[in-house]
Amino acid sequence: MFLVDSHCHLDCLDYETQHKNVDEVVAKAAERDVKYMLAVATTLPGFQQMKNLIGKRENVAYSCGIHPLNLDEGYDFEELARLAADKEVIAMGETGLDYYYQKDNAELQRTSFRKHIQIGRELNKPVIVHTREARDDTLMVLREENVQDCGGVLHCFTEDKETASALLDLGFYISFSGIVTFRNAEQIREAARFVPLDRILVETDSPYLAPVPHRGKQNQPAYVRDVAEYMAVLKGVSIDELAEVTTKNFCELFHVDLTEK
Ligand SMILES: [Zn+2]
Ligand SMILES: [Zn+2]
Repeated sequence: MFLVDSHCHLDCLDYETQHKNVDEVVAKAAERDVKYMLAVATTLPGFQQMKNLIGKRENVAYSCGIHPLNLDEGYDFEELARLAADKEVIAMGETGLDYYYQKDNAELQRTSFRKHIQIGRELNKPVIVHTREARDDTLMVLREENVQDCGGVLHCFTEDKETASALLDLGFYISFSGIVTFRNAEQIREAARFVPLDRILVETDSPYLAPVPHRGKQNQPAYVRDVAEYMAVLKGVSIDELAEVTTKNFCELFHVDLTEK
């Protein structure tokens, strides 16, 4: 079996008390058949630090981008384009809109979001989109910037079935995290049942949001296995089938070839 954690913040795990180092985290993941992961950036300096910490590995890919909640410092669009052009970078982001935690800079969030899509289209790299309480604006920006040209994924999906439907119409993939296993997440489960198998990805978003049965612990890529097992039951397929299709989806979206791995 080959599972992919399509979204983790590998650089944010606790290497003081929980893990020895990145090698150990990657090994723990492999023990549970999680054999590839996408390490997602949230700032440009953070992107560089993440690359330094993790290094070049055949089972870790990178994204490059600025999280909508990290815009206070400002950043240089040219620098984003330059860093994102790196061969190891397979995606733009995470970008998007978060009006739940910050609404006073909504205009700036939209501008940054648009910029990520524009660069993604130039480089032919898909966007990883974060959205919270910003459903309409998120869809508006995606449509206006012709996101179909580079494609993308709505990560850590917490919206409803109708939003999933609108995203599918844009050619998007939908990534489900440990939230889908939470007791009060019936709306997300309804959306998960609705999204066709060939558009589903699974992720941890670690170190946040550990899935059942690891609630209260720090999340890590190994736990994407628990998300995948839960999703398999929801979709009425075997874990092997869910692993196979989500890995295939990941490869298609991000233009990576994992057949050798
Ligand atoms: Zn996010
Ligand atoms: Zn994230």
